[in-house]
Amino acid sequence: MIGTAIGIYLGPIYGFWDFPQDLARPKPQPSHADILVDLRSKILNGLLQDPDCLGFLGAWGSDPLALIKVIPITEGNVSPFPRTQAITTETLTPSSPIPINPSIEINHNGFFFEPGATASLGGQTFQTGTPQFQTEVLLHELGHATGVLPLDANSAKQEDANNAAIVQKCSKTINGAR
Ligand SMILES: [Zn+2]
Repeated sequence: MIGTAIGIYLGPIYGFWDFPQDLARPKPQPSHADILVDLRSKILNGLLQDPDCLGFLGAWGSDPLALIKVIPITEGNVSPFPRTQAITTETLTPSSPIPINPSIEINHNGFFFEPGATASLGGQTFQTGTPQFQTEVLLHELGHATGVLPLDANSAKQEDANNAAIVQKCSKTINGAR
């Protein structure tokens, strides 16, 4: 009787341990640099099929297709507040509505690369850390870099208005980002 009981038991025990160990093996995660390379490409391809977004971002004469290929995107300690996802630094001149030398910095205290939170941006709900969320954030910053979005660093109300403009004009590019 004992022999039979062990015989029946060993199979399931070994089966149980083998299977979850395989499932639990961590998948290699792409680096943040890899994710950003992929996002530039997703946004470029999205914009090529999204005349509303392209027209909006290019309204003051800048070329968003050229810009998304080359604009510097780094990651750093932008703000201690996790609600801040990124900033664009640029030079504004009286002679042109298009900013000079724009660059984007992602807040590493924010949720750009962090899944697990929900964010409402311009009336649309996003899961953080997803391509849709990241695309919205980068298009918003691109809106500053092209000059079409008013400055919002010190105005939550303007920031909301800017997000609303981006989710409305660029819904095709945002929702198509996978
Ligand atoms: Zn902004």
